[in-house]
Amino acid sequence: MLADAMATVREFLEKINIDARLAFDEPLSAHTTFRIGGPADAWVEPRTEAAMSALVAALRASGLPWVVLGGGANVLASDSGFRGVVVTTRALASIERDGPVVRAGAGARVTELVAATIDASLAGLDFAAGLPGSVGGAVYMNARCYDREFADVLSAVRRLDRDGSLREDAIERGAWAYKRTPFMGGGEHDGSIVLGASFRLEPGDAAALKARARELEADRRAKGHFDHPCAGSMFKNDRGFGRPSGKILDELGFRGRRIGDAAVSEKHANIFVNLGSARAADMKALVDSARAAALEAFGFKLEPEVVFLGDFTD
Ligand SMILES: Cc1cc2nc3c(=O)[nH]c(=O)nc-3n(C[C@H](O)[C@H](O)[C@H](O)COP(=O)(O)OP(=O)(O)OC[C@H]3O[C@@H](n4cnc5c(N)ncnc54)[C@H](O)[C@@H]3O)c2cc1C
Repeated sequence: MLADAMATVREFLEKINIDARLAFDEPLSAHTTFRIGGPADAWVEPRTEAAMSALVAALRASGLPWVVLGGGANVLASDSGFRGVVVTTRALASIERDGPVVRAGAGARVTELVAATIDASLAGLDFAAGLPGSVGGAVYMNARCYDREFADVLSAVRRLDRDGSLREDAIERGAWAYKRTPFMGGGEHDGSIVLGASFRLEPGDAAALKARARELEADRRAKGHFDHPCAGSMFKNDRGFGRPSGKILDELGFRGRRIGDAAVSEKHANIFVNLGSARAADMKALVDSARAAALEAFGFKLEPEVVFLGDFTD
């Protein structure tokens, strides 16, 4: 990045002096499941909610560009990285239980949350066994698998609102829909930060829940989810298309299509994979060609589910 812009970010972070791990020129490829992405000017991991809150307030006041990242399991980061500050929830990873209610910090891994609920003989989150990423990311995305979604079991979300206020409200189910949450504004991230979430679960049988979780993990492996670095489904499904996006891409012959090391999986046409050293630009070109083909052949506008981070103008 430009040395003077970097100096501004560094000076700013050193001045606000919060309880956080700081890194500069941090490669985003190390923090995304695609294993793609250039350096972020600054990478900040606040260790407490208070530190997160102070950081976000200062960033808002500074006008510096910033984004929040959880597990990086649904992000394609640009080859040039991110000019500004990437704030990660990673250190806010507590998991606590109070009877049938389980509370998790945004940075807790979904797989750890699922395992903790099963160990406590609580049913309801087992559908998410094997889902990569953080609790905050799954809440923000309303992650969905095996016909269930996070909003089905969420009871409350603790968050920093766009205006910086700390809130914890019961969720209004009507504001949540397929891959849509109240934090998405008109489609863009509205700047709210999920700090944690509470889930209301039902008593269950730990052995049966464990068996179900293993079955779902095996199904993911069989579908090739973990064969190559990826970010899960590239496009959302749309009922109006009459069939899943993967089926549409299959009909268009996209399975196995490749640009450089960016490819459409041989096992599932809605999963785009990094075959080794894929560039974000090649992945984006593959996405664009799939969208153009679906539009030309069927008049369908495929909507990416994966979030693009950084500059993709080249
Ligand atoms: C192998 C594989 C399989 C997958 N299968 C599925 C699947 O079955 N179903 C499914 O829905 N998804 C699936 N995904 C995608 C991914 O797991 C989910 O979208 C997951 O919920 C993303 O969480 P994350 O923490 O990694 O989010 P990130 O990738 O870090 O971020 C995604 C978006 O959420 C925002 N965000 C993250 N944390 C917060 C926060 N605390 N507050 C506010 N905004 C935040 C980010 O700014 C970004 O816009 C899969 C991914 C992989 C790699």
